[in-house]
Amino acid sequence: MKSDTATTGCGVSIDLFERMPAPFGLIRYGVAPDHPRIKGIVNALHKVLDKPSVRLLGNIDYGTDITLEQLHSLYDAVIFSTGANADRPLDIPGIDLDGSYGAADFVSWYDGHPDVPRTWPLDAKHVAVLGVGNVALDVARVLAKTGDELLATDIPANVYAGLKANKATDVHVFGRRGPAQAKFTPLELKELNHSPTIEVIVAPEDIDYDEASELARRNSKIVDQVANIIQDYALRDPGESLNRIHLHFFESPVEILGADGKVTGLRTERTELDGTGNVRGTGKFNNWPVEAVYRAVGYLSQNIKQLPFDEQAGTVPNEAGRVTTEDGGHFDKTYVTGWIKRGPVGLIGSTKGDANETVACLEADFLAGKLAAPTDSSEDAIITLLDSAQKAYTTWDGWHKLDAYERGLGEPEGRDRVKVVEREDMLRASRE
Ligand SMILES: Cc1cc2nc3c(=O)[nH]c(=O)nc-3n(C[C@H](O)[C@H](O)[C@H](O)COP(=O)(O)OP(=O)(O)OC[C@H]3O[C@@H](n4cnc5c(N)ncnc54)[C@H](O)[C@@H]3O)c2cc1C
Repeated sequence: MKSDTATTGCGVSIDLFERMPAPFGLIRYGVAPDHPRIKGIVNALHKVLDKPSVRLLGNIDYGTDITLEQLHSLYDAVIFSTGANADRPLDIPGIDLDGSYGAADFVSWYDGHPDVPRTWPLDAKHVAVLGVGNVALDVARVLAKTGDELLATDIPANVYAGLKANKATDVHVFGRRGPAQAKFTPLELKELNHSPTIEVIVAPEDIDYDEASELARRNSKIVDQVANIIQDYALRDPGESLNRIHLHFFESPVEILGADGKVTGLRTERTELDGTGNVRGTGKFNNWPVEAVYRAVGYLSQNIKQLPFDEQAGTVPNEAGRVTTEDGGHFDKTYVTGWIKRGPVGLIGSTKGDANETVACLEADFLAGKLAAPTDSSEDAIITLLDSAQKAYTTWDGWHKLDAYERGLGEPEGRDRVKVVEREDMLRASRE
């Protein structure tokens, strides 16, 4: 970020570095393909990136292609918003068996991320998904829908071929606690019911609330709506359908069972509410015959080179966005926002609040004269640096070309777009 009142009129010019050839982060590589309304948020982001004061420099990986010293020498300030793209580990026996997967890896595959394998094993008929948040719902829904149902979306050919051969008929989603503690949001939970191929099943004995759960329902409209939707699923008579999503509550996964190195089941301990909204084990165990287990227990950010990192929280330590040093001071000219700032929870809308807070700190530091001036503040300096290092960076114009190319691929099939997966193909389409 450079101060630049003279040329932009709005006081700053911004270069946006992105390791992928295309922009939009998890909107492109996290949000499920059958959520086109959410993916439509890119239209709002277009308005930001269309501004002449903002430049996109894609296919540039901070830490590999550019260093903190280089950024500090060229900009008044640097904001890291590198998000989270890995699975939080789950330490239970059997987690390393063949057929045990992280949700983030599966999401990357079905969203056509260039850096993951092109095929995904989908030969399990009975599947377990661990976790009761929206990512668990995404994974369960994509597994329970048919490939043809998802063909209307932007999924690339390799993902369609994989999903078409998917054998899953029963997807079991497991939560340790009860319906009032589930982290789903109402819209996503209701949406399960919209697929003609999916029947949602909840056992009536899984509906239970203690005093703290009732209080949580009274205090939060969302908690109450989620509990009501789950209750409605439990009360109705399940109809006939091709595939089923079973939502299980009060089942704590204790072990993934296996034979010959492969998943053969999931063992859970039945839990019960303890009055505080928490649960305790009952000592009763259930074995679920499943051939694959997906853990959707949260995302985790990765260490950013040259910055401090809190391994447990998966964040860069900061105060309102200012990166903090071990002795309680602040890193010069260095800020964070988004999931790397506050951890991998919250919807896209929540990142706006983060960004406002971080930018307010940056602005205050700038006005207080705390930001050391860059040694070269010319607009061309970064381009000269990348060109001299022969980095094949992409630009906002390049995104428009890739965007048009992907839309063109979808047109003959009546689809909005078909995603390009290979990095080299993305780069080529961005240049042509
Ligand atoms: C599976 C899934 C589904 C979701 N679905 C929804 C939904 O339906 N609706 C909703 O509102 N929210 C959804 N979210 C949440 C939403 O995606 C996040 O709130 C939001 O994307 C966080 O924004 P961010 O900028 O912190 O991170 P990101 O969106 O992840 O952006 C970080 C960017 O930094 C780039 N980057 C990382 N490291 C480097 C580096 N070293 N150099 C250069 N670039 C780098 C990444 O490539 C990425 O583009 C979903 C999240 C997940 C995981």
